[in-house]
Amino acid sequence: QRYVPGDSSKLEQAVHRKQVTSKAHRQNATLLALVRNSETYGMIKSIKQLEDRFNHKFNYDWVFLNEEPFDEEFINETSMLVSGTARYGNIPKEHWSYPDWIDQDVAKKIRESRVMSRINYGSSESYRHMCRFNSGFFYKHPIMDDYQFYWRVEPDIMYNCDIPEDPFKFMVDNRKQYGFVVSMYEAQKTVETLWETSMKHFNQSGLPPADPRMYEFIAREDNTYNLCHFWSNFEIANLDFYRDEKYERFFNALDWAGGFFYERWGDAPVHTIAVAMLLKAEEVHVFQDISYTHTVAETCPLDDGMRHERRCVCNPHTDFSWKSKNSCTPRFVQLTQKETLKDHDRYV
Ligand code: GDP
Ligand code: MN
Repeated sequence: QRYVPGDSSKLEQAVHRKQVTSKAHRQNATLLALVRNSETYGMIKSIKQLEDRFNHKFNYDWVFLNEEPFDEEFINETSMLVSGTARYGNIPKEHWSYPDWIDQDVAKKIRESRVMSRINYGSSESYRHMCRFNSGFFYKHPIMDDYQFYWRVEPDIMYNCDIPEDPFKFMVDNRKQYGFVVSMYEAQKTVETLWETSMKHFNQSGLPPADPRMYEFIAREDNTYNLCHFWSNFEIANLDFYRDEKYERFFNALDWAGGFFYERWGDAPVHTIAVAMLLKAEEVHVFQDISYTHTVAETCPLDDGMRHERRCVCNPHTDFSWKSKNSCTPRFVQLTQKETLKDHDRYV
């Protein structure tokens, strides 16, 4: 179900309209960031990179979402830098709280037991709400009704090459539903029952994998989860994929099972399992020409001419996708027979 706000203006805190100067044809799409006020200065770093490398030519809108009101400083600093209209949305309480079937005491005890563990964010409550929001709610925010595609952006990320062609247009022209740059293995401890819960749901719904190659991407030979997931801090995707009842039922089954709170299910493995079960390989794209940096991973195009032409500042010798043993992208490329870039064999 779509969220029907009593007064939707309350959920759009501010709009900074920009005159579009771009002559380029734009798709029905937006850049999207879920972000906190405390991340203002990390956010403007990301905005500057994307504007300089890409969006100054296109002037796509930016949508910022937060479960708390954005402060003046955040709105001023970010709206200054964007070339497209900036919209500031507040997340309704129902999208960032415990469903009534969750036992909050149990959830709390589990978090406390993980304070000393090595599970990333294992003891964080807000991280769990964030993952649940990014799994089942971001596309239900009324601001997102105005768009068909989104490009997810986080604070403190880098884009290290020019992006001369519009990835949104690429998605539309090539009928892609979901695009990623990084894929890797998830920490097993965060998703202990995600796979069995998911498979039970798809079995009961009579939904076999839409494409055996996509299923094989995430499954071991014994039909357990191999932990591969698309790293969702970058994703470009069609919102209709999530708006479809197949996705909605899947999310509801997961939410009912409680693993967002009792474990620490990430939105990345949730999106990935849905993509792998519901889409065909042709509908999923790996952007090998985009150089992206977020915390532990940086990708770099393995095409010397392209890197020079696009003024890249990244090291192809340490490209995460092909040089890290934690990357699932070689598996994806092999199974789905995607083409690799021109100088691939010289580096891999
Ligand atoms: P990581 O990438 O898994 O290390 O997680 P991050 O801390 O970067 O969080 C992922 C995204 O969600 C980032 O865009 C954060 O700005 C955002 N985020 C995380 N926690 C919160 C929160 O409590 N409130 C808001 N508004 N955004 C959050
Ligand atoms: Mn992050």
